[in-house]
Amino acid sequence: MTRSSATLSLLQVRKSFDEHPVIRDVDLDVPPGTTLALIGPSGCGKSTLLRLMNGLLQPDRGKVQVKGERLVAQNLLSLRRRMGYVIQEGGLFPHLDARQNITLMADHLAWKPERIESRLLALLQLTHLETDLLQRFPFELSGGQRQRVALMRALMLDPEILLLDEPLGALDPIIRFDLQKELKGIFQALGKTVVLVTHDLSEAAYLADEVLLLHEGRIAQRGHMSDLVHRPADAFVERFVKAQRGHDWSAL
Ligand code: ADP
Ligand code: MG
Repeated sequence: MTRSSATLSLLQVRKSFDEHPVIRDVDLDVPPGTTLALIGPSGCGKSTLLRLMNGLLQPDRGKVQVKGERLVAQNLLSLRRRMGYVIQEGGLFPHLDARQNITLMADHLAWKPERIESRLLALLQLTHLETDLLQRFPFELSGGQRQRVALMRALMLDPEILLLDEPLGALDPIIRFDLQKELKGIFQALGKTVVLVTHDLSEAAYLADEVLLLHEGRIAQRGHMSDLVHRPADAFVERFVKAQRGHDWSAL
């Protein structure tokens, strides 16, 4: 995959907070229509990397490109509209009901009511959310329902790219299991380019075409899950894989 045909690319990107380097010279590209999982321990820079990808943060050095266009202040809003983003914890506005949360950007862009309704209907079917729930406020929804609403909001404008920051992070195991299946179905049905953050290796293996393990702001290893399991790049990768107890990776 050449860089020019990648949907998203980072070139030598570096980012520090208060002189403390958080992302260190990261090079990566995401081929169109594929799902990449970012994994790594808490604090390794996963959310920061996602924010750099959609321009919420500017790199100190290096560049971020979306479909070959460098992300700069002038094209930020138009490029961001091509990226659906679900922040960690969902980020729904508490004072807006589910419908208002989902249609916020479409309303802002003055979409016709019929267009909004038909898009809402398609998204309800896709995410298996009951229509009645659209009138509820976030605090009146369960964790799983909130995640579905956050996903609908991210998909509303039919973006080419989806950036999902631990979209299933706070859910109990059974709901998480069901939503993982649904997410996988959604990725396959829509053919979007997806970057998904998770700290769970088995979730990454299940949902993504490729995984990228971050360690203190650097890429420790990128590849298929079987590469990380059977051909770990270094001792950290080996430890990270071993630490996910209870998983049998031997079938990979
Ligand atoms: P992860 O998502 O992998 O848990 P983050 O990307 O959120 O990690 O954070 C990486 C590091 O950068 C952490 O040490 C965090 O405290 C720090 N950090 C993140 N955002 C900011 C910020 N806006 N200001 C200062 N430090 C930050
Ligand atoms: Mg995070």
